[in-house]
Amino acid sequence: MLRWSIATVTMGGTLEVKLAAAARAGFRAVEIFENDLTFFSGKPRDVRARALDLGLDIVALQPMRDFEGMPEPLRQRNFDRAQRKLDLMEELGADLLCICSNVHEESLGDPERSARDLADLADLAAQRGFRIGFEALAWGRHVRDWMQAWDVVRLGDRPNLGLVLDSYHICVRDNPIAPIADLPADKIALVQLADAPAILMDPMSLSRHHRCFPGQGDYPIDAFLQAAVKAGYRGPLSLEIFNDQFRGAPANVIARDGMRALQACGERLDAALVAEGAAPTLISAPLPKPPAVSGIEFIEFAASGAESPRLVALLEGLGFARVARHRSKDVDLYRQNGVNIVVNREQDGFAHSFYLVHGTSVCALALRFDDPARALERANALGAPTYHGRVGPGEAVIPAVAGVENSLIYFMPERTRGGGAPSNWDRDFVFTDAPEHPGPLSAVDHLSNVVRRTEFLSWITFYKAVLGFVDEPQVELADPYGAFYSRVIGSPDRSVRIPVNIGDGGSTAVSRFLETFAGGGVQQIAFATNDLFAFVEQAAAKGVRFLNVSDNYYDDLSARFDLAPELIERMRRLGVLYDRAKGGEFFHIYTRMFDERFFFEIVERRSYDLFGAANTPVRLAAQAGELDEAARTRGSVGG
Ligand code: MG
Repeated sequence: MLRWSIATVTMGGTLEVKLAAAARAGFRAVEIFENDLTFFSGKPRDVRARALDLGLDIVALQPMRDFEGMPEPLRQRNFDRAQRKLDLMEELGADLLCICSNVHEESLGDPERSARDLADLADLAAQRGFRIGFEALAWGRHVRDWMQAWDVVRLGDRPNLGLVLDSYHICVRDNPIAPIADLPADKIALVQLADAPAILMDPMSLSRHHRCFPGQGDYPIDAFLQAAVKAGYRGPLSLEIFNDQFRGAPANVIARDGMRALQACGERLDAALVAEGAAPTLISAPLPKPPAVSGIEFIEFAASGAESPRLVALLEGLGFARVARHRSKDVDLYRQNGVNIVVNREQDGFAHSFYLVHGTSVCALALRFDDPARALERANALGAPTYHGRVGPGEAVIPAVAGVENSLIYFMPERTRGGGAPSNWDRDFVFTDAPEHPGPLSAVDHLSNVVRRTEFLSWITFYKAVLGFVDEPQVELADPYGAFYSRVIGSPDRSVRIPVNIGDGGSTAVSRFLETFAGGGVQQIAFATNDLFAFVEQAAAKGVRFLNVSDNYYDDLSARFDLAPELIERMRRLGVLYDRAKGGEFFHIYTRMFDERFFFEIVERRSYDLFGAANTPVRLAAQAGELDEAARTRGSVGG
């Protein structure tokens, strides 16, 4: 029966923790890595009992290395070693032993000889009712491609000898995928799934450190999965991910992410099968269809004390005005054209707890969904439970799930066309001013998340699987104190775009943010305007301070682009940055950081669709200067 499985090597921790995490995430099968047994305090049969208790089937024992095609006496030694593995399988209750292609320098590389060794081993295994699977390692000494492994298996010709197909080894060597559909189903012993980023690196290092869940990398996992299913394979589909970040994260989170990625994979697999007139596998329970997200309804700040008037002054400097107060809570609505900012100063409840941990910060993001109820059902089915907050009498209940660092993502209906604000504003708020407030800013252009490195792929999977977002290629840039990585993810209609950023290095802007913020979160909100220069002059007059950009930047700009000297002088005077791509132009500016924590960006796009990545190192350097200065000031004040 087709079913999802996970290799214990994918998760960190002890074997007991891994098995419990796999079961909790909904897996019913596991592949045991022998190394995990080495650190297990009990006997292998205890592992079997534990797995049985948890409803987990042990589908394979891994790995047996450097087995086939060895000269004597190594050959005999290998068979002795194999006997012990078969004994171990007996105790574990596993019926499949995975052999990966030989990398040993003394291996002979004669396919007939290798086939004979595997056939002899299969005969030994048959006495106990076991099977042998042969897998081509991309860096095998003689067998590197699944086609070569298939030649050996075919020559070996035993009913209990089959192929292990691992998407990583196949995709990293660009092996053909379509012909997998023509393999005899009973010759596929196991299918393993692993994605990886399309970066140039030797296949072994890439495999050992950068494998990731389907949908997190760049490999054609969907096509691979379809080919295996079309071949008639109906066994376990096992996640086999070697990744240091995964092992460093809690096993429960990794197992949940793995299941989430597989559920999305199963959804696409069944959709493709149905589109071709074939029956769906129903390997995962069908999910409510992915939501269509069509924009940000509001951004909510948690604020308190003396910081709150400073935040409000900054918002007003940017052109926002308070238009409404909450009926029963210390919550205000600031508005400008279609952009809503909620400032929550309540002294208990969710926002205040968030404030106590993170200080003044974005504690919630409300997105507009085509069908919020269906979207929530999908989120729940993908392991993102509904958040239940405290609701006052007569208040609208807005369903939510947890986002980055347990901030909230509210599920709101689409804005009613021509009908003004959605009903919850009127139900929960009293408008003290005209509900529409004009201003220089027209929309939220994007907002960025900073997350811990270990959580980066987790959030990519969340946004893609749960919210139906799509991602763009990853960008890598220099930070003055290390490296900066960014991947933009957003709704397919591009109404919501979120660069998700991570850093490498103890003093990078990202690391400093994680430290001052006590975790990941929203570091930047970018607003769109039609006239950036006019906006900057107005905002500066209202006391908004913008990031200092070095003179060298503007000297360099005049060398790179044929811009009028007066324009460059104007940008230099105001601190405006510039980029140009594909015939479009981009003018943008950053505010100084609020309490060394977050900042706003204002952008004017002229047929330009990117994010000015060329200017990110300039921004990071200027912010590093700002943070260093703040640290010096604190130092002198504190003595
Ligand atoms: Mg493998």
